[in-house]
Amino acid sequence: MSNEVLQHLIAGKPHDDPGTTQRTNIDPATGETVSIAPLDAVAAADAAVAAARAAFGPWSQTPVGDRIQHLFRYKAILEEHADELAAGLVKEHGKTHAESVGSVRRGIDCIEHACAAPVLTMGRTLPQIAVSSSFCRTEDEGGVGIDSSADRVPLGVCVGITPFNFPVMVPMWMWPMAVACGNTFVLKPSEKDPISALRTTELAHEAGFPPGVINLVHGGAPVVNRLIEHDDVAAVSFVGSTRAGAAIYANAAAHGKRVQCMAGAKNFSIIMPDANREAAVDGIFGSAFGNTGQRCLAGSVVVCVGDAGEWFVPALVERTRALKVGAGDAPGTEMGPLQDPESKARVLDYIGIGEAEGADLLIDGRSAEVPAAGCFVGPTILDRVTPSMRVAQEEIFGPVLSVMHAGSLEEAIGFVNASEYGNMSVIFTDSGHAVRKFERTVEAGMLGVNVGVPAPMAAFPFSGWKKSFFGDLHANGEDGARFFTKSRVMVRRWI
Ligand code: NAD
Repeated sequence: MSNEVLQHLIAGKPHDDPGTTQRTNIDPATGETVSIAPLDAVAAADAAVAAARAAFGPWSQTPVGDRIQHLFRYKAILEEHADELAAGLVKEHGKTHAESVGSVRRGIDCIEHACAAPVLTMGRTLPQIAVSSSFCRTEDEGGVGIDSSADRVPLGVCVGITPFNFPVMVPMWMWPMAVACGNTFVLKPSEKDPISALRTTELAHEAGFPPGVINLVHGGAPVVNRLIEHDDVAAVSFVGSTRAGAAIYANAAAHGKRVQCMAGAKNFSIIMPDANREAAVDGIFGSAFGNTGQRCLAGSVVVCVGDAGEWFVPALVERTRALKVGAGDAPGTEMGPLQDPESKARVLDYIGIGEAEGADLLIDGRSAEVPAAGCFVGPTILDRVTPSMRVAQEEIFGPVLSVMHAGSLEEAIGFVNASEYGNMSVIFTDSGHAVRKFERTVEAGMLGVNVGVPAPMAAFPFSGWKKSFFGDLHANGEDGARFFTKSRVMVRRWI
């Protein structure tokens, strides 16, 4: 690692502007420095918007079929570089190798979906919507008809602000669809692990995107606010915490921007007594501890209904005790470190909070056997959690599972719906009746049945509800294409 501050990528070229403050990022498994990211280079943000603005005219006039050829090439390039990108994720994020490879693959899925832009942005026509006899030269034929049609056109310069937890995948929710629709883009990746986003943006230029179509500027809140408030920015797509998302939504709306904010979560999974035991334990284990719990789809609360807890809790505890924690690239590692020292401190705090609130600490991640260096915390299970506890309500974003108990499905759904978040909820059962009740009454945008992490494939929208989302149109699916285009209606008469 050099001690140089990372460069931005503007108009296809490295752009040097370290700003006045920087953040030093470490490999969370070793503590070794991996990058230094500029935090407040607002002049670079201006330069990135100017480059995107200059590229918008010609790019928006490029036929959509030609635009997506770049994405087809880009997909192939990312597949060729998948191992390199995965190794980078292990180093700067701490994911396991398998999680890293999986997240690159999920990013590529989004590019494939964006290649459907010709179909997703197609317009509609209604001929002969009215008849007019004024100015008519052929009155004997009943007047001249009026046709109407609607199509979708790009917005202009769009901005993406992304979180640390999926630095390859989440940017792919945004810019491939945005540019396929004819927009140009400025990506502001997380300042905590910016190398992966920088590398994937460099690779976009190898795919032949014209300079200025996709730009990247590093930074923290000062850069985000500069981009949001910029007169030449039309739309803002954000993924991150609820605290930042709510602020960005308000600021972007106050500046007249189109905005979508995919935000934080506290996801509940319900285990019914009749559930397939192996599938339930396996599903919850992966959901709670996968990506070290740093997923907006992490199943961080389990509600055992009736006597389900009697078989579920001991089996989950046994499985979790055997979980191997270590560096993401060490053989056999099932769970890596948290991404940075602040995350480790927060998670340790929450374990203490749960204990102080009276939860039973069945497995204590503070005393797990983990490597001494780095940001490791072992998996943690808190039992007998009640709805009023902070560990039942607040997003911990780490490998801490809260277990609750309910007398009935209705009571369990009540626990789920009391949450201020509504990203996803899951039920494990064999009963169609229970599933139907769950699907019809639970308040969350992404639901799973006998599936631990119901992450939608790119053809479906990523549909958080309540404080897990601010806006109207979600990311991906048809929503993605609609978010990055505006509609235009034409009424035509030939005289
Ligand atoms: P974060 O909110 O701290 O940061 C996200 C982005 O916002 C970063 O680029 C950061 O620079 C910027 N930012 C942070 N605070 C800001 C502020 N006050 N003003 C302007 N910009 C600001 O989130 P994080 O810690 O990087 O990521 C974890 C969070 O993201 C979790 O809450 C997780 O649930 C959420 N997340 C949500 C989804 C989803 O689809 N709903 C997906 C992934 C992650």
